[in-house]
Amino acid sequence: MERIDGHTRLCGLIGNPVEHTMSPVIHNTLAEKEGRNMVYVPFHVEQGQLASAVEGAYALNVLGLNVTVPYKGEVIGCLKETDAMAGQIGAVNTLVRTKGGYKGYNTDMMGLYRAMCAEGISLEGEEIIILGAGGAARAAAFLCASKKAAKVYLLNRTSGKAEQIAEEVNRAAGKAYPGKPCVCPMRMDEHGKIPSDRKYLAIQATSVGLYPNVEDAVLTDSDFYRKIHTGFDLIYRPSQTRFMAMVREQGGRAFHGLKMLLYQGVTAYELWNDTKIEEKDALAVYGKMKEEMGIDE
Ligand code: NDP
Repeated sequence: MERIDGHTRLCGLIGNPVEHTMSPVIHNTLAEKEGRNMVYVPFHVEQGQLASAVEGAYALNVLGLNVTVPYKGEVIGCLKETDAMAGQIGAVNTLVRTKGGYKGYNTDMMGLYRAMCAEGISLEGEEIIILGAGGAARAAAFLCASKKAAKVYLLNRTSGKAEQIAEEVNRAAGKAYPGKPCVCPMRMDEHGKIPSDRKYLAIQATSVGLYPNVEDAVLTDSDFYRKIHTGFDLIYRPSQTRFMAMVREQGGRAFHGLKMLLYQGVTAYELWNDTKIEEKDALAVYGKMKEEMGIDE
């Protein structure tokens, strides 16, 4: 931005840690492109300080906040209101200033959807495998159901977590799938039971393979990868994960999670500023993010 003055609006990120975040690149570039007098900075919030951080931000007239690990669930208790879908997912990553307090949204889910649309990946009528049952997998499962996927196999190491998400998503989506639950929970090591007479979109939503453990993948059995036509890894560091490499080895297309990160940011920015970002500007920001990561793909 050109200068900070008496009208500059402040947005930021709260989490712990926040030091390696890419979000300032997203928001400050968008503000610059739009000629908007706004700056975005990370705030490292210590455990036990979340409620005072949110209250203090509101008192300081902070326009909006992103929320990252480990506060996406806990922050719900600090809000005036929570968007219905974010409430169902049980995780909020964006706080939007409203009269009397912040309203919470989950733009991770929208970010994933917009990233998939940008890559020409559709969910409607698709058979989908989700690996993982943490916060990101939960958002992915709600997204798949809300976009009318035909079937979702939700695989996790801890099967109880997959069962819980499946139950919640099937209950929420019940009207759209009368008598036919959309999400089928499984243990990770039961992947062989997934029918092999067709191919699937696989969403990798575990933290296995995340930098610095770049040689790891949650599944390493090539039989599994033969069933995949498209693999979407939510991890973006590294930009080529072992999961992606194994999908490609078996002839599938594979994507990393940097575009999801881009679009969750774009969606948050649009909510804070009541604006719509043009695709060319979003892609220009993406170019900067790739530069920052030192990648061209
Ligand atoms: P959580 O900590 O909530 O969930 C972690 C998941 O990984 C759980 O399903 C966990 O299984 C599984 N897992 C962890 N270690 C192992 C292991 N050794 N073997 C098998 N499974 C394992 O994390 P999030 O859901 O928040 O994030 C998941 C990934 O998504 C992260 O890599 C994160 O970086 C990425 N992400 C990317 C975003 C983007 O914008 N691109 C946005 C949000 C997340 P279990 O339940 O058994 O412990």
